[in-house]
Amino acid sequence: MATESSNIPTGQSHLSALRQRLPLVGLTGGIGSGKTAVSDLLTQLGAGVIDTDLIAHQITAPGGSAIPLIQARFGSEFIEPSGALDRAKMRTLVFSTLDARKSLEEITHPLIRQETLRQALLLADAAVPYLVFVVPLLVESGNWTDQIDYLVVVDCPEETQIQRVMQRSNLSRLEVEAILEAQASRQTRLALANTVVENQGSLSELKSAVEQLHQKILGIKKAKLSSS
Ligand code: ATP
Repeated sequence: MATESSNIPTGQSHLSALRQRLPLVGLTGGIGSGKTAVSDLLTQLGAGVIDTDLIAHQITAPGGSAIPLIQARFGSEFIEPSGALDRAKMRTLVFSTLDARKSLEEITHPLIRQETLRQALLLADAAVPYLVFVVPLLVESGNWTDQIDYLVVVDCPEETQIQRVMQRSNLSRLEVEAILEAQASRQTRLALANTVVENQGSLSELKSAVEQLHQKILGIKKAKLSSS
C-alpha cells in the first residue's frame, strides 16, 4: 500500500550528514513501472538500496512494530489471524476516509523514517558507493526532493503498468486505474527527474539501462568528492 510511505519526513539533519559522505539518490515511478526491478539490479551492482515500501510492509507484517498501534487505533478487525495488517480492508478505509489515512500515517511514518535512517547509516558504514532511497510517492510527498542529490524516475506507458500490475496481483483493471489516478501524473514525475530509466522493453534492455545509470551515479560521486 504505497499510501503508507507517501509523506515521510526524511529526518533531515541525519540525511544531510550522510550527504557529505556519499551521493543520495531517490528512485521513484508509478505503480508497476519497475522500481523493484531497477533497485534489485542496482543492489547487484553494489549500490546501497533502502526500499521504503518494503519497510512499510515489514512493519505491518506479523510481529511488525506498527501492528499493536494499528490494533489499538483501528480495532482487531484490521488485523488478520496471522497477525498481519489486513491490507485490503485498510486500503478501502484510507481511500474513503481522510482522517483514517492521517491516523495510519501518524503511526507508520515515524516507524518507517526510523528504519530508513537505520538502514542508511548501516549501508554508509559498509562503504557502499551511493545510497538509493526507493520511495513510490516521492514526487507526491515533496519532502524528499531537497534531501537528495539525484532523482531517478522509472517510466513506461500506463498501459504497460496496468498489464504488469494485473498480471502480478489480483487487482482488476479498474482498481489499477484508480491507483494510477491517485498518483502524480507521468508528466509531473518526468518533469522533476534528473534521469529517466525507460522500462517498456525487455528485462535485458532494462539491465543495460541500469548499468549505464550506475556508471552515471558513480560519475556524480567522483565529481562530488573532487569538489569537496
Ligand atoms: P509497485 O509500484 O507496485 O511496487 P514496481 O514499480 O516496484 O511496482 P516491479 O515490481 O519492479 O514494479 O514490476 C512490476 C511487475 O512487472 C513485476 O512483476 C516485474 O517482474 C514486471 N516487470 C518489470 N519490468 C519488466 C520488464 N522490463 N519486462 C517484463 N516484466 C517486467
